[in-house]
Amino acid sequence: MKKRDQLEPQPTEPVVLSRSEHPLSRKMIDQDTIKVLYRLYRNGFKAYLVGGGVRDLLLGRTPKDFDVGTDATPNQVRKLFRNCFLVGRRFRLAHIRFGPDRLVEVATFRRQADKEELPDCPQERSFASENVFGTPQEDAFRRDFTINALFYDISDFSIVDYVGGLRDLQEKKIRVIGDPMVRFEEDPVRMLRALEFSARLGFEVEASALQAIGKQAHLLAGAAPARLREELMELFRHKVAGPVLRQANETGLLDHLFPDYSVDENSLRLIERIDRRTASGVPVTEAIMLASLYLSKFRDGLKKSPDLDFAGAMHLANALLEPHRAHYHIAHGIRHQAREMLLGIFRFNRGRGRRGEKRFLHHPATPGAFELLQLWSEVSGEEKDMVAAWKDVVPEPGKSKEKQAERPAGSNRSRRRRRRQRPPKKEPTPTK
Ligand code: ATP
Ligand code: MG
Repeated sequence: MKKRDQLEPQPTEPVVLSRSEHPLSRKMIDQDTIKVLYRLYRNGFKAYLVGGGVRDLLLGRTPKDFDVGTDATPNQVRKLFRNCFLVGRRFRLAHIRFGPDRLVEVATFRRQADKEELPDCPQERSFASENVFGTPQEDAFRRDFTINALFYDISDFSIVDYVGGLRDLQEKKIRVIGDPMVRFEEDPVRMLRALEFSARLGFEVEASALQAIGKQAHLLAGAAPARLREELMELFRHKVAGPVLRQANETGLLDHLFPDYSVDENSLRLIERIDRRTASGVPVTEAIMLASLYLSKFRDGLKKSPDLDFAGAMHLANALLEPHRAHYHIAHGIRHQAREMLLGIFRFNRGRGRRGEKRFLHHPATPGAFELLQLWSEVSGEEKDMVAAWKDVVPEPGKSKEKQAERPAGSNRSRRRRRRQRPPKKEPTPTK
């Protein structure tokens, strides 16, 4: 690679690394994306690999997906590919399908809209700001961080850098393109993304961006809930929810992320534990995310009211989960699953030998609730006795409920008989 001073882009001239000066080769890019790049190029258009794909390949990581940037308009792209669909409400993107679950996204280069062009409503702003076609250079400058604005040009296999992304990849820096104060105001979700990429890549967020997060954190409350919800799930999918929420807490972002949410050390540890669970190959769901965010508060509530009955526990769980669900427009079904996990913990807390225990052990949510209890116990050092008391009777997740819960060791009752005894197959009802 070039030296640092050779990686400093000039105001008008990008840094260009020729094929021999960088390690990115066509073999690293998936074949469908290569096909798309070549067809655009052969038809006289510019065709670049853009965004996270270039960043990850230069870092020796496996990209999640590959995005293509071009100066062809969406309609021109559509005419080139039979398997192409235009999507997007305001900004039209071309999706080119290869098989049932393979698609390559092609976006026309666009520029940042001028301030006067933006609508007043902050939730509309980020869409509108992406709505105007531009040059490759303008397209680089509208992106969020320098390392996310690198282009790989299929015409000569060079890397084109208008913003200093190559330098920042070397220096392991998350640097905002332009003035962080302004760029965070334009789109507050970028603050969360800065922490996300920092955690994912092990890079440092540069000082002026961190300061700007401190000052602009409150703007996150006005960001489009659907986008925040998606970014939040991204944190969990990328196994960095723990460190990012910890840093969001330290920088003041977290206060504005969830309505009425305050986090404590055990919650953060639980979320870090969920990240490790995801890293071990167990897919993370939005329900377990929700339950883990609110478990600590739920337990505090139970401690405060030791005589709480089932209806009271349900009320408590709803009071914690519902503002989050409503704010982020999460489906009631997901909230329901999260609530079942919390109520399972309430039920474990009441101890063994209660009425309805068999039914509780049969309940589809019980293994998940028990897993959450175990994770909680592991990170907090609490409830070891509770885990021990239930360990042998709660079925493992994914295992047949009857086999483990209903059938004590040595039981020789027939399968058919057991099946007849099961409650009718209906929407699972809450257990007491
Ligand atoms: P990954 O897909 O691995 O999470 P990515 O960098 O590809 O990382 P995406 O969310 O897929 O991230 O976005 C693709 C690209 O679009 C980014 O690399 C960045 O250049 C640009 N981008 C995404 N979100 C924003 C934003 N809020 N503001 C400006 N540019 C953005
Ligand atoms: Mg991406």
